[in-house]
Amino acid sequence: MRIKTCLLTICLLWGTDAEVLAAPKKDRPYYENRGEIVWEVPTEEKLIALTFDDGPDPADTPQILDLLKQYEVKATFFLIGTKAERYPELVQREAAEGHELANHTYRHTYFNKKIPERRIRDELTKAQDAIHRISGQKPHLFRPPGGYYNETLVQTAKKEGFTVIMWSWHMDTLDWDTPGVNKITSKVLNNVRNGDIVLFHDYVEGKTETIEALKKILPELKQRGYRFVTVSELLSYRKLSPVKQMER
Ligand SMILES: [Zn+2]
Repeated sequence: MRIKTCLLTICLLWGTDAEVLAAPKKDRPYYENRGEIVWEVPTEEKLIALTFDDGPDPADTPQILDLLKQYEVKATFFLIGTKAERYPELVQREAAEGHELANHTYRHTYFNKKIPERRIRDELTKAQDAIHRISGQKPHLFRPPGGYYNETLVQTAKKEGFTVIMWSWHMDTLDWDTPGVNKITSKVLNNVRNGDIVLFHDYVEGKTETIEALKKILPELKQRGYRFVTVSELLSYRKLSPVKQMER
């Protein structure tokens, strides 16, 4: 009897150890393979997804929409819930012109420290309700402000039906920091790869340089044969692992 108990204990301990050893490191490849966070979608196709965060804004957003219309570009807007409520007509215009609406929290909350699940859910659902009420659309993409994420955030977003969307690291234009029109332009034009997700903002503190940069970027990328797609359309080109495909 004693031997049995002893063996059982060894087995249990071994089991625990094995689990600890086998616990995956929750880094980019982990989330990318599980399809829970997307940074970009490498593809043979000449596709690119432009994204605009932190709007809508009455000064910047209409000018950006005008440019997108001029170059027949479809983009994705990661909206802040409070601003969507303040400027509903801009949200409606984005939807009417064929752009994708996505969730960027209700109050632009940074999840860079431990935040309870209920608070994350509150940020997500309040923004979601606002966007749905205003546009009739129910976004299924979520971008956490500042790109901060942790396991609780990813799993809460998943439970609420969202995929977390980041951006291609080599396509971070830093336009929010107004680094100069040329810097924004060259960041995109010198680094572009098929399936990239580009990060812009349709609200920045101070005078935006994003619009002037777009005037150079859009015609040049069109000239090079790129097709501008929404993030959802880009996601349809994802090559998921066999396990993920079975789960779909
Ligand atoms: Zn933001």
